[in-house]
Amino acid sequence: MAKWVYLFKEGNAQMRNLLGGKGANLAEMTGLGLPVPQGFTITTEACTQYYEDGQEINDEIMGQINEYIGKMEEITGKKFGDAENPLLVSVRSGARASMPGMMDTILNLGLNETVVNAIAEKSGNPRWAWDCYRRFIQMYSDVVMEVGKKYFEELIDAMKEKKGVKQDVELTAEDLKELANQFKAEYKEKIGADFPDDPKEQLMGAIKAVFRSWDNPRANVYRRDNDIPYSWGTAVNVQSMAFGNMGDDCGTGVAFTRDPATGEKGLFGEFLTNAQGEDVVAGVRTPMHISEMGEKFPEAFEEFNKVCKILEDHYRDMQDMEFTVEHGKLYMLQTRNGKRTAQAALKIACDLVDEGMRTEEEAVAMIDPRNLDTLLHPQFDVAALKAATPAGKGLGASPGAACGRIVFTAEDAEKWDERGEKVVLVRLETSPEDITGMKVAQGILTVRGGMTSHAAVVARGMGTCCVSGCGDIAMDEANKKFTLAGKEYHEGDWISIDGTTGNIYDGQIPTADAKIAGEFGRVMAWADKFRTLKVRTNADTPEDAKKARELGAEGIGLCRTEHMFFEEDRIAAFREMICSDTAEEREAALEKILPYQQGDFEKLYEALEGCPVTIRFLDPPLHEFVPTEEADIEKLAEAQGKSVEAIKNIIASLHEFNPMMGHRGCRLAVTYPEIAKMQTRAVIRAAINVKKAHADWNVKPEIMIPLVCEEKELKFVKKVVVETADAEIAAAGIDLKYEVGTMIEIPRAALTADAIAKDADFFCFGTNDLTQMTYGFSRDDAGKFLNAYYDKKILENDPFAKLDQTGVGKLMELAIKLGKPVNPNLHVGICGEHGGDPSSVEFCHKIGLDYVSCSPFRVPIARLAAAQAAI
Ligand code: ADP
Ligand code: MG
Ligand code: MG
Repeated sequence: MAKWVYLFKEGNAQMRNLLGGKGANLAEMTGLGLPVPQGFTITTEACTQYYEDGQEINDEIMGQINEYIGKMEEITGKKFGDAENPLLVSVRSGARASMPGMMDTILNLGLNETVVNAIAEKSGNPRWAWDCYRRFIQMYSDVVMEVGKKYFEELIDAMKEKKGVKQDVELTAEDLKELANQFKAEYKEKIGADFPDDPKEQLMGAIKAVFRSWDNPRANVYRRDNDIPYSWGTAVNVQSMAFGNMGDDCGTGVAFTRDPATGEKGLFGEFLTNAQGEDVVAGVRTPMHISEMGEKFPEAFEEFNKVCKILEDHYRDMQDMEFTVEHGKLYMLQTRNGKRTAQAALKIACDLVDEGMRTEEEAVAMIDPRNLDTLLHPQFDVAALKAATPAGKGLGASPGAACGRIVFTAEDAEKWDERGEKVVLVRLETSPEDITGMKVAQGILTVRGGMTSHAAVVARGMGTCCVSGCGDIAMDEANKKFTLAGKEYHEGDWISIDGTTGNIYDGQIPTADAKIAGEFGRVMAWADKFRTLKVRTNADTPEDAKKARELGAEGIGLCRTEHMFFEEDRIAAFREMICSDTAEEREAALEKILPYQQGDFEKLYEALEGCPVTIRFLDPPLHEFVPTEEADIEKLAEAQGKSVEAIKNIIASLHEFNPMMGHRGCRLAVTYPEIAKMQTRAVIRAAINVKKAHADWNVKPEIMIPLVCEEKELKFVKKVVVETADAEIAAAGIDLKYEVGTMIEIPRAALTADAIAKDADFFCFGTNDLTQMTYGFSRDDAGKFLNAYYDKKILENDPFAKLDQTGVGKLMELAIKLGKPVNPNLHVGICGEHGGDPSSVEFCHKIGLDYVSCSPFRVPIARLAAAQAAI
């Protein structure tokens, strides 16, 4: 028979998966001999079983729970429902990873009319007895029966008003008794049955409520945001009560062994006398600073300090603890490795190394790479943010905080910026023409688009805050206004957006530039020692490249050459190229483009100081570039010496039903080899110039051909590249090496990688397209239906943000397995958005990639994640 229930005495910290975090640590503290009220833990597997059994607790599990109540009665010498010496318990949820948003705890379970009268008399403390009972009815009704907190709070307020008192503690035993009766009446009215008197019935109700809470909407959202699988389940802890509400020699508190905001060593926390449970954090009364506890309860405080030391030494990490003092005696109710800001995480890791508690490897492993994001972008003022209520929510597409005045067009963004105004650019969706406006904006908010939409990708690349895909916005671009949550917003109105959470706030929330403290560099240096995976960056401009180098990038893994045409005068030349209808016209346009490209490439090589630079040849989904505005069309017509009509016809002929699968990538070079020739000349000439200026740098261009699906296709384009490059090199009379590789971003390329590897010096997985083509989900449209997939538990994550290891990952593994034997020198990287996602980086390490490439601001995250994968 499976074992579904464990006494605290039977468990330990290693059993976290089975007992949940809270249960495992209660067991560990018990093992350390600390004062823990005893109890038992129902395992996470029982939770999974409960769901398998159609949301029922089966007889076997039920039997074990009953058996363990018996054991608990023996240990405590108290009996469930007994009038003489009743056992009262708390019922607490506890998943493997701590999860706010799950079930609220129920305290004082086991009380009924008989028991409460008995303990009131026996203790000589009727106020305490009735306080416990009214709290229990309140929590049980809310948490188990979902009656809602509000009704009970209203009754308490009415009682306080009637008695003319301000605080709960001023209510007398009689008042509390009356409240308990009112609560029960409220319960009966709402539920249509009497409040349950049988402690076992109460207990089963509470246990089921914990299991049920695993699947509530708040929990589901939290899990998705934090990569916690649905299959884990939650444990349930049943623990005998310690009472902090028996009078002024009692109390309850929470404390950290180090400051969770700064990492500073020293006790940090709060304490409240004559209180129970959440009173401290719920703000029922203003709690006192933990240090004052020493004056009120010197002995308990001394013991608490000892316990803190024991726990920190034992866990070798900052602890976050809950405790209660009952008649001067300390009880420990919880400990865990405390949540902390990124700043604090770095300081604590360094301090623990300096204190000899942790090795450098362990310190690196302790830091959540996702947290580093916050160190690299401006942040909202913490207090101001706490006080604000979001008006809406989109996708947190590019982290950071932005506060500015609303503008609706990229031009307005530039104009307002020139006047010194801070702006947030609000668009239905963005396009390449918006890029300069996006650059000057504090933040970008779009109505449409997912995590890999144009706005999201570009914003992440620039390190600009972006919230995308807020479908709740009713946009009226023509009249420069939109409606959100019933309010109309106009140009110039203030708005604040949080690119980490996706929250949108009405009005101004002040922001502050994030500081990079000294510990940051120290931890990064350790990470670099341990990792084997190289980290490159996706950079299209010299500025991005420089930023990425500062943040530790070791090369460029992806330069998207079409992104070099977002500027006004350049896009004109680019449009001329697209809208040419003869080879001569196209070549004339290409002649204009060549110097731009060559100049940019030179600057990129300069910025990279001899580190590898991968340049991807043009991959413009054409619809992103053709002009749509009348004025632009006229301009183009004039430049081309054509009629507006003729240009419009060309544009119409370029229309594609499915541009993402249309005439893009190497298909362009196949139809118009002159484009590949021009790009090759630009790359090679730039490299020659830089090599001449810096003889000691290893300048070796890596030319990357996009969207290849067939060996012969790559062969064809490669031949054009090699002939052109070799001619350039021969003409310059210089010795320059270069590589030609390919992106693997179409499933067929992965499936035929052995053939493709014959002609490729390297593979680079373009996992944005590879995900799009493997799932058949359009990356620009998937946002519209993915939510339904999360709700139905078909998908747990956005496959465009977190690499799908099962499907897409399998194609990657296959491509490596097929490619490497054919070409032992083949080097392999990834340059999709996944290159900066920690769990995806770990996977890339595991399947033997040489490098990951990600947006500049994700480079530190990838470095740390790569180190953790190697440790
Ligand atoms: P959360 O995970 O939300 O903190 P907890 O289960 O830790 O929920 O409990 C909520 C509050 O109730 C905490 O302040 C905790 O210390 C208190 N509490 C839980 N169990 C007991 C108990 N057996 N005796 C006294 N207080 C308890
Ligand atoms: Mg807790
Ligand atoms: Mg691609």
